[in-house]
Amino acid sequence: MLQYDCVIVGGGAVGLSLAIVLGQSNYKTLLIEQKVPGKIQDDINARTIALSFASHRIYSMLGVWEKIKDPISIQEVLVTVKGQYGSSKLTAEDQELPSLGYVVGTQELEQALEETLQGLTYVDILRPATVLSREARQDAWHISVSDMAEKISCKLLIAADGMTSQLRQEQQISCQQTDYDHFAVMTNLHIEKGHHNIAYERFLPKGAIALLPWQQSLATCVWTVDEMQAQSLVNLDDDSFLRECQHQLGARIGKPIACGKRWCFPLKMQLATNQMSARFLLMGNAAHSLHPIAAQGLNLSLRDIWQIRSQIRKAKMHCDIGSVDFLESYLQARKHDQERVIFITDKIARFMSGGPIPTWLRALGLTLFDSLGPLKRRFTAFGMGI
Ligand SMILES: Cc1cc2nc3c(=O)[nH]c(=O)nc-3n(C[C@H](O)[C@H](O)[C@H](O)COP(=O)(O)OP(=O)(O)OC[C@H]3O[C@@H](n4cnc5c(N)ncnc54)[C@H](O)[C@@H]3O)c2cc1C
Repeated sequence: MLQYDCVIVGGGAVGLSLAIVLGQSNYKTLLIEQKVPGKIQDDINARTIALSFASHRIYSMLGVWEKIKDPISIQEVLVTVKGQYGSSKLTAEDQELPSLGYVVGTQELEQALEETLQGLTYVDILRPATVLSREARQDAWHISVSDMAEKISCKLLIAADGMTSQLRQEQQISCQQTDYDHFAVMTNLHIEKGHHNIAYERFLPKGAIALLPWQQSLATCVWTVDEMQAQSLVNLDDDSFLRECQHQLGARIGKPIACGKRWCFPLKMQLATNQMSARFLLMGNAAHSLHPIAAQGLNLSLRDIWQIRSQIRKAKMHCDIGSVDFLESYLQARKHDQERVIFITDKIARFMSGGPIPTWLRALGLTLFDSLGPLKRRFTAFGMGI
C-alpha cells in the first residue's frame, strides 16, 4: 500500500495550487487529474482570469508568480451605465499600490503551477487517472486508482474536482443552487487604440459587459445576457458581433476590430451545504462556485488554500491534516471571508442582471458610490482580496 498524507482529486488551478502548498510543507501528496493539459492557444483565443492583489502576493510567496508568462497589470477600473452619466473610477494610485490586480492566461497560470510542482519531491501526479473506489477506515482512506495495481492510503481526501464534483455527490453532500437566468458570452477583442491597463465594467438595461486588459491591444470581453441573446451572440458572424460590442461599450474604449473564439457559460452560484466530512474536504468550485462577474472564484479559493498553509505552519510539527480538529479550525477560520464574498458577489450579480432597477437609478447609485470615499475604498479592498 502506498502511503500519502493527502490525495487531491482534480488538477485545475485549485488542485495544483493546493498541491504546491502541501508539497512545500513536506506533506506527501498525490494529485489525480482525469485530463492531460491542452495545447497553449494564441493570445486572441486564450482564456484569461483576473487575479487580485492578494492572490498575486500568495503566488509570489509560493514561488509561482515569477513563472507566470506576461501577467497584465490592472491600473484602473471604470464602471459606467449605458446611456447615463453616472460612473465610478477605482485606481491603484488611490490605493497607493502598484496594481489593483492582474490578468493572466489560464494556460500560462497552469503552466507556472506545473513548473513549480516539478521541483517538489513530496508531490506525485497521476494523469490521466480517476479514483475507481475508496473505502473509509478509522483514520485513513484506502483508494484504488485507474491504471495502478497498488492501493493508496491517505489521511485526507480532497475533492477539487470542480462544480459537478463526483466525489461530493458520492459523499452525499448536497448543494444550494442559485440560477441567475443569465449566460456569460466570453471572447477576446482586439481594440484599435489598446487598453491602457484599464478594466471596464458597464451596466446594460439587461445584463452587463466587462473588459479586462489582456496582451498588447487585446481585452477579454465578458458579456452577460439572457439565454436567447446568448445564443444569437454566439451565432453572429465576427463583423456583426464586433458592431454589437461597439454599440454596448460606447465610443470611449475605441473600436473593436477583431475577436477570438466565443464561449458561453450559464451563470449560477452553487454552494455545498457542508464542506467537510470525516477525513474529507471540498475545495475550489466543488465547495463554492460563484457568478464570475466579480472575478472572485479562484481568488477566494487561494485564500482558502493560504489558510491551510497557515495552519500547517502554526502547528510546527507534522500534524494530522485530516483530523476533525484541523478541518474544523480551517472552516471556522474561512467562514467570514467566504460568507462575505458570496454575499457581495450575489448582490453584484443581481444588480448587474438588471431586474426591476431602472438604469437611471443604477447610474445614480454609482455616482453616489463614487462620492463616498470610505465605501469606495472598502469595495476596492474587497476586489483586491485585502
Ligand atoms: C467565465 C468565467 C470567468 C471567471 N473569471 C474569474 C476571474 O477573473 N477571477 C477568479 O478568481 N475567478 C474567475 N472564475 C472562477 C474560476 O475560474 C474558478 O473559481 C476556478 O477555475 C475553479 O477552479 P477549480 O480547480 O476548483 O475547478 P476546475 O477548474 O473546474 O477544475 C477541476 C478539475 O478537476 C478535474 N476533474 C473533474 N472530475 C474529476 C475526476 N473524477 N477525477 C479526476 N479529475 C477530475 C477536471 O478535469 C479539472 O481539471 C471565472 C469563472 C468563469 C466561469
